[in-house]
Amino acid sequence: GPDYVRAIAPYQGGKPIAEVAREFGLDEAKIVKLASNENPLGMPESARQAMLEAVADIGRYPDANGFELKQAITAKYGVPQEWITLGNGSNDILELAAHAFVQPGQSVIYSQYSFAVYALATQAVGGRAIVVPAKNYGHDLAAIANSITADTRLIFIANPNNPTGTFIPAADIEAFLKVVPRDIVVVLDEAYNEYLAPELQYESTAWVREYPNLLVSRTMSKAYGLAGLRVGFGIAQPAITDLLNRIRQPFNVNSLAQAAAIAALNDSAFLQKSAQLNADGYRQLTQAFDAMDLEYVPSYGNFVLVKVGNDDGAGARLNLALLKQGVIVRPVGNYGLPQWLRISIGLPEENAIFIEALKKALA
Ligand code: PMP
Repeated sequence: GPDYVRAIAPYQGGKPIAEVAREFGLDEAKIVKLASNENPLGMPESARQAMLEAVADIGRYPDANGFELKQAITAKYGVPQEWITLGNGSNDILELAAHAFVQPGQSVIYSQYSFAVYALATQAVGGRAIVVPAKNYGHDLAAIANSITADTRLIFIANPNNPTGTFIPAADIEAFLKVVPRDIVVVLDEAYNEYLAPELQYESTAWVREYPNLLVSRTMSKAYGLAGLRVGFGIAQPAITDLLNRIRQPFNVNSLAQAAAIAALNDSAFLQKSAQLNADGYRQLTQAFDAMDLEYVPSYGNFVLVKVGNDDGAGARLNLALLKQGVIVRPVGNYGLPQWLRISIGLPEENAIFIEALKKALA
C-alpha cells in the first residue's frame, strides 16, 4: 500500500467503560465517562421510539438517498435537498471532502490543536498537511489565509473547535471566506453549533448560497444525543454535494439512524434541555477550576480543556489517577497538549464526582 497510509497514526477515542472496569477492577455501573463529548442525557425519547418502530423494517435496505431525513433537515435548516449530503457521522463528511477534492501531494490546511480527523482524512488521501500555529488555542484565520499555496485544495475550520473549545465570531469567518480563492473548498465543521448561546448563533447556511466553495458540516452526535447511531450531514451548493454523493457508500446511513435522526431533528425541547444542561455544567466545572486555581480555555462546546500541571507528564499522570477512581476523561498529548485534559460536560452528579476525583488526584 501507499507509504502515506502506512504512516497514519490511528485515531485515539475515549476509553470504553468496560475496558476501564476490567483494567482497574472497578464496578462498571460506578464509572463516570466524560471522555467523548457525548450528550449526558443520552438519546431523546422521541428518537428511541422512532428507532424501535424502524426495527420492524430492518430486513430492508435503508433509503439510499435518505429522502425523509433530508426533508427533516430542509424543514429545520431551510436548505434545499440538493444541498445535503448525509454521512455516517460527520467524520464521514470530512473524509468524503478529502477524497473528493485532494490528490496525493496537494495541500490541506488546518489549525494546530484542531480536530484529529482533519489530519487523518488528509493523510488517508496522501495530502500534504499545512498545520497553522494556533492563536490563543484557536484558529488564526489570517495566518491560515496567508499559508495558502498554489496547490491548496481544502481548508478545515472547526467552530467551535475540539479539543480547545474556542469560537470564531461570524464576522471573522465571513471575512475569511471573502479572501479564500473559490477553487479551494472550505469545510466549516459545526459539530458543536447547537451549544452556542443565541447571541453567538450565525447563519452559515446563508453563506452557502454566497460561497460556492463552502461546505458546512453538522452532526447528530452531540446536542442531538445520537453518537452511537452515526449520523452527520454536509450542506453545500450542488456542485460540491453532487461529488460527495458520487463517492459516498450507497447506504452510508442505516435505517435506524435515519428514523432516529428525523425524530431528534423535530425534538426542539430536547435540544433546548441539552443546551441548558450544558451551560449549567460548564459553570459547575469552571467554578471548581477557578476555586482550584486551574487554568482552562473558555469553551463554547460541551467540554472544557483544563491545565492539570506544568510538566509534560501531567496530563497522562492525572488521567491515570482519575481512571483509578473510575473517572474517564480525555488526555490530549496526541494533540500536542500534554499538560492538559479535556473534560466532557456531564450530568451535575457526574461533574461533581469528577471534581472530587480531580481534587484527590492533585492533592
Ligand atoms: N468534528 C468535530 C470538531 C468533532 O469534535 C467531532 C466528534 N469528536 C466530529 C466532527 C465527528 O463527530 P461525528 O462523526 O460523531 O459526527
